[in-house]
Amino acid sequence: MTETRDLLHYDAAGLRQLVESLGQPAYRSRQIWRQLYQRGQLDPMAMSDLPSEFRQQLAEAAPPPADALEVQTSDDSSTTKALIPLGDGELIETVLIRSAPRDTVCLSSQAGCAMGCVFCATGLQGLRRQLTTGEIVRQAVLARGWSRAEGRELTHVVFMGMGEPLANYANVSEAITRLTAEDGFGISPRRLTVSTVGVPPGIRRLAAEHPRVNLAVSLHAPDTKLRRDLVPVPGASIDDILSAVREHSRETGGRVTFEYVLLQGVNDSRAQALRLADRIKGLRAHVNLIPLNPSPGVVGERPSRRATLRFQQALQESGIPATVRVEQGRDIAAACGQLRGDRLRRVE
Ligand code: SF4
Repeated sequence: MTETRDLLHYDAAGLRQLVESLGQPAYRSRQIWRQLYQRGQLDPMAMSDLPSEFRQQLAEAAPPPADALEVQTSDDSSTTKALIPLGDGELIETVLIRSAPRDTVCLSSQAGCAMGCVFCATGLQGLRRQLTTGEIVRQAVLARGWSRAEGRELTHVVFMGMGEPLANYANVSEAITRLTAEDGFGISPRRLTVSTVGVPPGIRRLAAEHPRVNLAVSLHAPDTKLRRDLVPVPGASIDDILSAVREHSRETGGRVTFEYVLLQGVNDSRAQALRLADRIKGLRAHVNLIPLNPSPGVVGERPSRRATLRFQQALQESGIPATVRVEQGRDIAAACGQLRGDRLRRVE
């Protein structure tokens, strides 16, 4: 794997080493750290508190990453999607969602994804590679820059873009550490969510190592057989996933969100809602219902509004809080991976 060695590639110790190898005192690394994570300045030449000769040296040793290739904002201005080129030519997608008073960035954790959810454009592309910590945090730094340029502030971070974050645990974990560090990016862990299709060992590690971070689990089905049709990668059963979620909940005291993409005639019946409620009862849980937004090449139809509300009502009658996700920015491609897919279709 080719790694982009811009300054975000380095952790605090690595940055200190880099600075010292360029003949500068160690405190310069803290100046660079603040420039990167607090001011969002990724270009060494623009780090105005560094001596100009050193800026030049730094820019040669760690050239700034390329700018976003394509930035699209939805007609209602609620959503911005950016296609970001990586050093080896891979493309990832980062999304900023404005929903007053929140500005939320949706981070990708992998280029492509191995999980192959049948309704997802990213799943069609397969896994290209893991993202490095630097490539993950760069998305948050860029998105905060877009917010700030509009006089707003980034308030929330979710790992819900391309890829399965718990299948890239080490780099995602280090990214969480940097994003939540008070002398780093400074986002509260309570405002950071990891969304997973359900990787039990990863859920347990997250509880132990990042207990204040929120957990969201994409279930999409009340039973394992149907779920394996929708999320075909061989993986844990729903029992195994829910057992890890229960442990997570006991250990952290946190509430879990279950994501459930509704596909017409597949997983949207009242009986399936009641079965789902039965499986997750007793957990401090909330279900987020997402009516499918069909896109080229993916499987499934969008359920009617009536079917969606019927599903929601059945959960609520069973004592499970459930909301239907308010969709934003449908005109600029709503499902993860769609923007990247469009670009590849045009380029190839
Ligand atoms: S929905 Fe998420 S986990 Fe499933 S294929 Fe798409 S990116 Fe991967």
